[in-house]
Amino acid sequence: MFFAVITLFPEMFEAITAYGISGRAVKRDILQFSCINPRDFAEGNYKRVDERPFGGGPGMVMMAEPLSQAINHARKLAMQAGCVHVPVVYMSPQGNTLNESAVQQFVEYDGLIVLCGRYEGVDERLIQRYVDQEWSIGDYVLSGGELPAMVLMDSIIRKLPEVMSDEQSVVQDSFVDGLLDCPQYTRPDHFEGLNVPEILKSGHHANIEKWRFLQRYQRTLERRPELVDKVELTKQQKKWLKDERGSNNH
Ligand code: SAM
Repeated sequence: MFFAVITLFPEMFEAITAYGISGRAVKRDILQFSCINPRDFAEGNYKRVDERPFGGGPGMVMMAEPLSQAINHARKLAMQAGCVHVPVVYMSPQGNTLNESAVQQFVEYDGLIVLCGRYEGVDERLIQRYVDQEWSIGDYVLSGGELPAMVLMDSIIRKLPEVMSDEQSVVQDSFVDGLLDCPQYTRPDHFEGLNVPEILKSGHHANIEKWRFLQRYQRTLERRPELVDKVELTKQQKKWLKDERGSNNH
């Protein structure tokens, strides 16, 4: 997958290109990643990329011209890499809030050009002309789009089929089928007076699968009740719930 990030702070992206699953994806060339600094396209001795806002007010605004040139350069790189469907995404607190189904759609794209704002944001005309989608990582404001861009990238990269060695672990994650994940345990058996549930040590796979589903369902009901109504349960899962409710009534 192709990623070009438009940012004034390219060094920050080492956090994603040098470590963990995403770092391995870069090393294995599954990910073609480049950072483009709009300052490289700015004019004058000072290479200005920001200016005071028209109408007054606090802070600075990122200028449209260097950003448009940076985006055009990113588009050229995408074409050279043979990538066709590469939308321009602006990370913004005013965008749609990122969620599982949006991430799932991004996985289908050839790549993304991700624009990171700074200061008070970017000139609205740049957004009108160049941005295809605006995405937020939540209803709070950060000082720049770099962390949101990395959140977006990481959520996509870990779902790429070539990246995950154990695809099953992605399938079982929270939100994938609408429910939260079940509690997880590892060694030792005893920790500060708490034991691992016996069933997980039983080796009985069908019972473990049932227990895990019931835990996931119960957790979702307690922590995120609004999610439960939207879940499409399988026949088996409905039966497990019915059995459980029956046994609780006795
Ligand atoms: N004045 C802007 C507003 O209130 O909508 C906020 C600008 S913010 C200080 C600077 C940049 O950080 C934004 O242009 C955006 O790229 C990024 N940013 C901040 N919070 C974000 C969030 N919740 N999701 C995505 N990007 C965010």
